[in-house]
Amino acid sequence: MDNIYYCDMQTEYGNSLEKKFRKLLAASGYFDEITKGQIVALKVHVGERENLGYVNPNFARVIVEELKARGARPYLTDTNTLYSGGRHNGVDHCITAEQHGFGYAAVGAPFVPADGVRGLAYREVEVQGKHFQKTKLANGVLEAEKIIFLTHFKGHMEAGFGGSLKNLSMGCASIAGKMEQHAAAKPVVKLKACVGCRQCYRVCPVEAISMVEGKAVIDYDVCIGCGQCVAACNYGAMSAGSASETAEFIEKVSEYAYSAYDYFGENALYINFAMNITPDCDCWPANDVPVVEDIGILIGRNPFALDRATLDMVNSAKARSSSRHFEKIRGEHGVFHEVWDIPVIGTVFDHAQALFGVELEYETQKLS
Ligand code: SF4
Ligand code: SF4
Repeated sequence: MDNIYYCDMQTEYGNSLEKKFRKLLAASGYFDEITKGQIVALKVHVGERENLGYVNPNFARVIVEELKARGARPYLTDTNTLYSGGRHNGVDHCITAEQHGFGYAAVGAPFVPADGVRGLAYREVEVQGKHFQKTKLANGVLEAEKIIFLTHFKGHMEAGFGGSLKNLSMGCASIAGKMEQHAAAKPVVKLKACVGCRQCYRVCPVEAISMVEGKAVIDYDVCIGCGQCVAACNYGAMSAGSASETAEFIEKVSEYAYSAYDYFGENALYINFAMNITPDCDCWPANDVPVVEDIGILIGRNPFALDRATLDMVNSAKARSSSRHFEKIRGEHGVFHEVWDIPVIGTVFDHAQALFGVELEYETQKLS
């Protein structure tokens, strides 16, 4: 049974969210293990350009302060993206990090792209998976002596939700590692529903979509399965791949997540920020109205149990009536299953439990 420490969002004079966050960090016991001179990575997601839904960099600043107080040498890091945008290479990634408040002046630690300038700096890590025997993880995370995952818990158009497991799997993978996870999960166009608005065509990062007689057509030889077109379509004409393809994608995410989790072992700490719970991930260049009310911050040492606990809380939270997905949320199958019509979301847990025997049982302790 894994211990998960949790605080809600309510604050009062003298007990700010920052203070509550510091109590969570202390309760984890993790900082007692930090020794002088250790190089510690803060695995962040600085948000795609024009997305404002990412974790507030002040939480990173608090962690940096706690680490420096113990003589550690922290740095912020993330891997470059598969698609074009503000984080596609190390140079743009550093600029976006700076623009979004993850610079040295604000946080007190430098941002270092984990897989180098072009996403090629990685090592293979062994895993006894169904799809992978080796994963391709970025050097910039593997070389840290300790690592802390700061994760915005939110929806994801292809995996259903994005939490610590996604931060471990896709978040620690080099470009090649991202590619091999995405490869099987490709969306489909429902031609009858397609109104030819071209929105999917505009957002596709690899120009895999063309418009033929006013309808979207995907070139599957080019498509990398990133799911951006699914999120862009307002007419329900672009949907996630078949359940079997989506399940395969989620199994791959599960294997990559386990591989990184196993590598970091006791050196890692995982934090889920279940606030501003948007339907889409922070790779999307916009952040829509959250689907449910804010929950709080959860912290633990087992990312599988942590994500399970956070997802359970999301499924019990009150839906936001201002969300464009409000009518879809019926409280029957889980929020993200209903928002994205992905019935195989739980595969990420089931697969890791069946293959690697991960612990999913948890006990939450609320701190005020
Ligand atoms: S966004 Fe949807 S409706 Fe618009 S062209 Fe693409 S598939 Fe068709
Ligand atoms: S999933 Fe959609 S947006 Fe992504 S590469 Fe394929 S066609 Fe393009």
